[in-house]
Amino acid sequence: MSRRHCVVIGNGMVGVRFAEEARRHDPVARALAITVLGAEHRAGYNRVLLPNLLSGTMQDEDLVQYGAGAGLQSEHAILLRTGTAAIRINLAEQTVTTSDGDMVRYDHLVLATGATARVPAITGIRGREGEGTSARAGEVARARMDGGGRGPGAPGKAPTRAAQEDGWDAGQLPRDVTALRTIADAHRLMTLAATARRKHGRIAVLGGGVLGLEAARALAARGTAVTVVHQAGHLMDRQLDVPAGRVLAGALRAMGVEVRLGVQAIRWEPGRGLWLDGMAPDGGDRSRAGLDGAGRAAARAAAELLPCCGLLLSAGTIPETGLAAAAGLRLTPSGTVAIDDALTTSDPRVHAIGDCAGHPGAAGGRRAGPPAHRSRASRALSRVVLSHPAQGRRDRPDLRRGPVPRARRPGL
Ligand SMILES: Cc1cc2nc3c(=O)[nH]c(=O)nc-3n(C[C@H](O)[C@H](O)[C@H](O)COP(=O)(O)OP(=O)(O)OC[C@H]3O[C@@H](n4cnc5c(N)ncnc54)[C@H](O)[C@@H]3O)c2cc1C
Repeated sequence: MSRRHCVVIGNGMVGVRFAEEARRHDPVARALAITVLGAEHRAGYNRVLLPNLLSGTMQDEDLVQYGAGAGLQSEHAILLRTGTAAIRINLAEQTVTTSDGDMVRYDHLVLATGATARVPAITGIRGREGEGTSARAGEVARARMDGGGRGPGAPGKAPTRAAQEDGWDAGQLPRDVTALRTIADAHRLMTLAATARRKHGRIAVLGGGVLGLEAARALAARGTAVTVVHQAGHLMDRQLDVPAGRVLAGALRAMGVEVRLGVQAIRWEPGRGLWLDGMAPDGGDRSRAGLDGAGRAAARAAAELLPCCGLLLSAGTIPETGLAAAAGLRLTPSGTVAIDDALTTSDPRVHAIGDCAGHPGAAGGRRAGPPAHRSRASRALSRVVLSHPAQGRRDRPDLRRGPVPRARRPGL
């Protein structure tokens, strides 16, 4: 059997895990050559630990769990191309065009492009493409720029200084606004926090969900004044009931984190702060629901400025599916790349895994669960690809009969 080539797009937690699993089943690369394309300029790392950078309890290198650069390549015979984004997939030709300007042919393609921070539609911080613009689009754009304009799709403009320094694309967000999805984001937030401490200012965290609260706690632990701004009447309203939310808010306040509930961020004003609407001194909800036009105008006039030097957006994520959609792969109604029980997309040679993928049968195609499940999916897919002669659907093993877990939640 001739050696096949598997290209993985995405050097994140799941993509690297998949590559390692595939190599474990094929240790001397007899069956499969593997190339991993990663837009980020570093080897795979554990994003879950990013708040520990903010609190100062960990350094960048502590997050690298696997696939450390050259290690991944020499120990696992995997070609890892960091700082290289995939910018186009041609399903008919079975090729991927990279930001370096070359074209890579594949027998199997694995999409592990993850998800990006959602940029809410707030005056002053909307990304170029408006609601839902991803912060990570900047990362891919940067990889394109680093291609030096060599490739098709390279915009041919020099990277901004900020982009050169920390991977942030100045075109996406104002300089004092960031998400927290990458190590580069964490460094950016640490710089904003240091400025806030120096100026006796504060950082606003938009979003009182798990990630926002983790980040707020970590910032406060390092002596940064922080205010969490949350639209609902209590924190973590998707997971907790009102009394539990109150207990949580009390615990955060005891740690020095200010909590503003029932308010909506409406405008970011650089150098001044975040304008809030629906502010109620007791933290209760004073939303505009039920107000007539005059009432809404009065509410607008009552908007209040929360003075702060920096803003962390923690308003959810959106799956990174632009490449897949542009190639014509089917998406689920919730916008993930649609996969079947064998983690295969609408093209039999293309698989998707991790945050970018969803099973149409799983709660509207939503992404699949916790890290342990995703890790099992990486193992499962490695077996699919290795046992798959790359000829199409009919040759695929029936995974439902074997020991391989199915993609459907909660078993992914
Ligand atoms: C601060 C934080 C805390 C978290 N805590 C938890 C937790 O406690 N529990 C939990 O279950 N989950 C948690 N998560 C979510 C978890 O990190 C993700 O579910 C996980 O990272 C998904 O892995 P992935 O490989 O699918 O995507 P990612 O890890 O996002 O990796 C995707 C990679 O693909 C790359 N990429 C995208 N497009 C391209 C392209 N065109 N070309 C090349 N490369 C590309 C990106 O640069 C990125 O490196 C947390 C996330 C964060 C940010």
